[in-house]
Amino acid sequence: MNILIMGAAGSGKGTMAQKIVESFNVPHISTGNMFREAMQAGTELGRLAQHYINHGMLVPDQVTIDMIRERLLRDDCKKGYLLDGFPRTLAQALALEEIVINIDKPIQIVLNLSVEIDVLSARVTGRRVCESCKTIYHIKFQPPKVEGVCDLCGGRLQHRSDDTLEQLTVRLREHVLLTKPVLDHYAAEGLVQYIDATQEIDEVWQDIKKALENVR
Ligand SMILES: [Zn+2]
Repeated sequence: MNILIMGAAGSGKGTMAQKIVESFNVPHISTGNMFREAMQAGTELGRLAQHYINHGMLVPDQVTIDMIRERLLRDDCKKGYLLDGFPRTLAQALALEEIVINIDKPIQIVLNLSVEIDVLSARVTGRRVCESCKTIYHIKFQPPKVEGVCDLCGGRLQHRSDDTLEQLTVRLREHVLLTKPVLDHYAAEGLVQYIDATQEIDEVWQDIKKALENVR
């Protein structure tokens, strides 16, 4: 199944992406993770991305699009994929459309996780990420068994420095503004499933599961 997941930072998107990957056996294609890994590994792509970031610029669409195309052609995408963090703009959506049609893997469903700002603020400020395996926790909603320690690998849990409230409001507004044309585009194709992400994690997951099972 070819899935696109959308949602602002703190919508629980990362947690849901993990669950989708486990239950539906599709690779998680997160552009953010791919850039981070490429930078850590010091690949050509990583150096290129680092260059833009060092100069305070966004990585150009073409770089991201080339990276996604290459990723979607790998064997593990034969059964589908879960795209996360891309596309963010209409231009990116149109470029992606060309790729997925060319390789005959069109997006079948777009999950849009929507939340209110006050609910988001409670979530994001409590978020912790494992340094080693990147598993996401929340001090209130999804705490680790031992405070500050990853259940899965024993790694240290970090509070991402950009997870502050003021930045959150700005990011949410930007997110809504930027992604509206993308959502409208997919809505016109009848692909968008709106998920109320203000619900409890299990309820959100049940809604997502139902939506995905209907695609099958
Ligand atoms: Zn871990």
